[in-house]
Amino acid sequence: MEHPEFLIPLNGLASGRTEFRWKAGKEFFGSFGNAEILDADLTAVVAVEKSGHDIAVDCSIEGMVTVLCDRCLDDLVLPVSVVAGLDVKYGRQPVSGSGDTEDGSEARESVYVQASEQELDMSQIIYDYVCLSLPMQRFHPEGQCNPESVARLRAGISVKGTEQVRNPFAALEGFLGDSGEQTENNN
Ligand SMILES: [Zn+2]
Repeated sequence: MEHPEFLIPLNGLASGRTEFRWKAGKEFFGSFGNAEILDADLTAVVAVEKSGHDIAVDCSIEGMVTVLCDRCLDDLVLPVSVVAGLDVKYGRQPVSGSGDTEDGSEARESVYVQASEQELDMSQIIYDYVCLSLPMQRFHPEGQCNPESVARLRAGISVKGTEQVRNPFAALEGFLGDSGEQTENNN
């Protein structure tokens, strides 16, 4: 789970702007146990601005990931373009119940690190931002699904459907029927 290339050195970071450029591929997502992302070719450009004790991190992740199409189960390449703005803060995260700036898409996320921490691991943050940017429903554009796969899946579903979908209803009806009869018998 180590991604040394995704580490921002907090100690020894020069004042001013430092830029990092990291590649995230298939292995990156695999290391998080993510089997949904079959392939990836992402570049994260991370600009770190240090001024006094303040560290601002602006991260832009561009590229593509390959997932399965929900409709035809063929490979589906999704473009990825995410930006994340982070403010690195030292100390413990305040436990104020009210969610601070939740409105406003430009809201920056605060990342809390211990004063003793030498570096900030950006891998989890990059992973989360990419995963959250992916659509819930992943389909090829209309008409671009693999027609053979769609046909095969439809056939498979209809065969299974007769057994797997109808049975629960039949069982439920039988159950309701039986319990109904039992109540009558008891009376
Ligand atoms: Zn498809």
